Amino acid sequence: MQADEALPPVLCDAHTHFLPKRLASKVRSFFEDYGLASQASACCSSDSTPGLYPVQEDDLLAELIADADQPRRCWSLPYAHKAGMAHSLNEQMTKLATELSSKSKGKLIVQPGFTVHPLDGSEGVRQTAQVALATGSRVCKLHCSVSRLSVLDGNLAPLWELAQAHRFPTVVHVGTSIMGVTESEELAEIDELAGRYPDAIVVIAHSGHPAVRRSIELARKHNNVYLDTTPVVVSLVDFPDMRDEPELHEKLLQLARQGRVLFGSDVPNVAIRVEDQVRDVVRWTSGDSVALDMILGGAAKKLLDGFLPPLQGSSGKL
Ligand SMILES: [Zn+2]
Repeated sequence: MQADEALPPVLCDAHTHFLPKRLASKVRSFFEDYGLASQASACCSSDSTPGLYPVQEDDLLAELIADADQPRRCWSLPYAHKAGMAHSLNEQMTKLATELSSKSKGKLIVQPGFTVHPLDGSEGVRQTAQVALATGSRVCKLHCSVSRLSVLDGNLAPLWELAQAHRFPTVVHVGTSIMGVTESEELAEIDELAGRYPDAIVVIAHSGHPAVRRSIELARKHNNVYLDTTPVVVSLVDFPDMRDEPELHEKLLQLARQGRVLFGSDVPNVAIRVEDQVRDVVRWTSGDSVALDMILGGAAKKLLDGFLPPLQGSSGKL
């Protein structure tokens, strides 16, 4: 596809990180310390694509909304690297989401995500999640390597119970690698989790790249397992190709048509421009417009529309 060919709009980007300033610069320093930033510059830098997206808020907004002719909804996902920070981080995420949405003059509608940390104890996890949901969060994020957690940690049980009751999605970055990649065997705990909590919606971040084939298998096995298209810094997700793996490719398209594959960019921690990411999705959806529309917004909308608020006066109050 040529660069100037019209691309379909991304109506929802279900994987972004608009973080409070201090945390955003900490994450960027991490990328620099581990060579991910230079890898990004070496791989993807040119005059028009200068490595990672800027971490500075105004520059980032300017770049994202430059050509936007339709508002884009973004799920903004936080992660907590230690105990005792999730609650206040969630509060800041909500505030920042409102500020950014208004700064962008409605071009970005930032949906604040929330997180929890198992070392806050099961009661702490429950309360943190309840407060976040009561203040408007509709999506949870867990990052297994950053938080050094297992999704099967007993202290996270209240989160999964709330996820079942209220049907909000939880985006899980699986694996222990600091480079962000997922090993196939590390996805076993998603298999276990999805079976244990069949109504809790679990989105496998980056489709478990490069263990994509295992992630597709899990999404086909469990109706509550979803995938996202989010690249890992400089690598697009290695989705099966129509020519080389026609059967698996068709299975992926089936999932996409069902609304089980979400577009995610990982902005600002990614060197591949959003437009190039969309080009790749257009390529592998191979003209299947139902699948494409679902990925670029339909699936995320369906998920958020499925949120079940508690009945007024019921015991399941948030
Ligand atoms: Zn991410």
